[in-house]
Amino acid sequence: MESALRTPTLFLRKGISILAAAATAVSTMLLPTSEASAQGLPLIRDAEIESLLSDYASPIFRAAGLGSGRIAMRIVRNDAFNAFVVDGRNVFVHTGALLQSETPNQVIGVIAHETGHIAGGHMAALRSRIARDQTKILLAQVLGILLIGGAAATGGDTGRDIGSAGQAVMQGGSELIMRSLLAERRSQEAAADQAGLKYLNATGQSGLGMLETFERFAQQEYISDTHKDTFARSHPVASDRLARLRELVRKSPNYSRKDTSELQLRHDLMRAKLSGYLENPRTVFNRYPKSDTSLPARYARALARFFLGGNQAVEQAVAETDALIRDKPSYPYFWETKADLLMRAGRAAQAIAPLRRAMQLANSPPLMKVELATALQSVGDEKSIAESVSLLRKALIDDVNPTGHRLLAGAYYKQGKLPQADAETAQAYFLEGNLKQAQIFAKRAQRQLRKGSPEWLRSDDIINYKPET
Ligand SMILES: [Zn+2]
Repeated sequence: MESALRTPTLFLRKGISILAAAATAVSTMLLPTSEASAQGLPLIRDAEIESLLSDYASPIFRAAGLGSGRIAMRIVRNDAFNAFVVDGRNVFVHTGALLQSETPNQVIGVIAHETGHIAGGHMAALRSRIARDQTKILLAQVLGILLIGGAAATGGDTGRDIGSAGQAVMQGGSELIMRSLLAERRSQEAAADQAGLKYLNATGQSGLGMLETFERFAQQEYISDTHKDTFARSHPVASDRLARLRELVRKSPNYSRKDTSELQLRHDLMRAKLSGYLENPRTVFNRYPKSDTSLPARYARALARFFLGGNQAVEQAVAETDALIRDKPSYPYFWETKADLLMRAGRAAQAIAPLRRAMQLANSPPLMKVELATALQSVGDEKSIAESVSLLRKALIDDVNPTGHRLLAGAYYKQGKLPQADAETAQAYFLEGNLKQAQIFAKRAQRQLRKGSPEWLRSDDIINYKPET
C-alpha cells in the first residue's frame, strides 16, 4: 500500500513520480548513464526534495571544486539507509537515508563523504583495478587449465594432483585479489571521510552529522551480522577509521555549529512528505500523532488522510493542505501538494491555479512546468495545449525527463504535428533506455523534419547512437 506504486505513473501528475532509471542522463548529449540504467534504479522526482538536496549539496560541490552544476543529486526509492556514487555525475541517496536522518547536517555529511569519493576519482580507480584483477583471475584460470592439461597429457593419477594445484593457484590468486581490493576500499573510505570533512570545514558546517551516521553503522556492524545495512556494507567502517574521524570532527572549528532552524524545518517537511507519500497511512498516523501540531506532522497527516481513502478523503486532505497554506503561504510546496491531490482526484482544472502560485513562489523549476503542462493537457482545449507545449519546451532544456518528452509528444499529436511528436517519442524511448524503439521513431521523424532543424539533429543523434560496450 504505497502511494507511488498505487497510481500508474505514466505521467508525472503528482509531487512524486517514479521514472525509469535512464532518466539520470545528465551529459550534454542526453546519453543515458549506463551504470544507473543497468542497475534499474527506481528514481523519484520531486521539486521540493530536489531543491532541498541541491541546497545541501551545492556548497559542498563548490568546496570540492566540482561546482559547475554537472553533478546531480538523485533520489532512489529504497528503504535501506544508503548513499553512493557510480560515476562523477550523480550522487544517489536512498529515501531510507532521508527518512532516517534527523538533521540536515547528517545528510550533508553523507553528501560530503560521497563528494570525497567523486573528487578522489575512486570509482574509476576501483573499476580499473577490477579490470586488472579480472585479467589476473583469467590468467590464473588459464594457468590452472594448462597445469591440468599438461598433467593429462602425461597420463596417470598425478594429473588430479596437479589439477588441484591449479585450483589452489586460482583460489589463492582470487583471495589475494579480494584482500587487496578491500584494502583499497578501506583507504578510499578514509580518504572520502577526510575530504568530506575538509568540505564541511570550508563551508562552515559541523562534521558531527557525518560522524553520527558512521557511528550508527559501526554499531550495527558489531551488534549483528545478519542485520547489516547496505550502507555499512558499501562503506565498511573500520574502528581505527572511526577513531580517526571522531578525532578530526571534534577538533574541527565548526564542531558545535547547528543547522539553522529554517533548514531544519525544510528537512522535517521533506521527511514528512516522504512518509506521507511512501508509507502506509496507518504508519504515518503513528509516526505523526494528532497531538503533534507542527507543520511537518500536519503535512504528513494530510497526505495520509488522502491515501487512506474513503468518505471525504479528498475534501479533508485538501482542507488540511489549505490550513497549511494559511499558516505558511510563501511555501510553494504546500500549493503544489494541494494541486497534486486535486490532480489525483481527477480535478485537473482546479489544480491549475494553485500550481501557478507554486511556480511563482518556487521560481518555476522544470518539474513544476511539467506538472502544470500535465494539468493543462487534462483540461485539453486548444489554448491549454499550446501553453503546455511552451512550458514543456522550456522545462526540457534544463531537465532530463522522459515523462516530459512523452507529454510533449502527446501535445504535438493533438496539434497534428506528427514529425515533431515522433521526435519527442524517440527522445522519451531513448532516455528510458529503449534504443530500438527510439531509433524507429527517430527515423520516422527525420523523414519529415526540416534537415538541420533542432528536432532533426536530436533525431540524428539517436539514429547514430552507438551504445557503450
Ligand atoms: Zn564511502
